[in-house]
Amino acid sequence: MTVERRCLVCGNITLFEVTENTREWVCATCGKINPSYAGMMAPSIASAEQVGGDHYRNMPIQPIDFIHKNNIPFMEGCVIKYVCRHRAKNGKQDIEKAIHFLRMLIEKEYS
Ligand SMILES: [Zn+2]
Repeated sequence: MTVERRCLVCGNITLFEVTENTREWVCATCGKINPSYAGMMAPSIASAEQVGGDHYRNMPIQPIDFIHKNNIPFMEGCVIKYVCRHRAKNGKQDIEKAIHFLRMLIEKEYS
């Protein structure tokens, strides 16, 4: 499968040919191995595909990967998700959703 990501060496949005066993992410544009992707497992097909838009696809680290790898709890994960996508998706409404989750977090854990 190919995954579209920003090359961290040349900065171009490019395609990477990856399989479940891929350890070297070689940029199709500049041919260099991406340092931050090298040694990283290829994303599963499910996480490389996005239903309903491409607002996360050009991020070198996907919010879902960051949230999952750091075991970030649900409400904090939602805040990260909405903050990461607001410029590419729902603008102010996404910021308001992030604030809503922060308010719920205060209510449930600090009051
Ligand atoms: Zn490149």
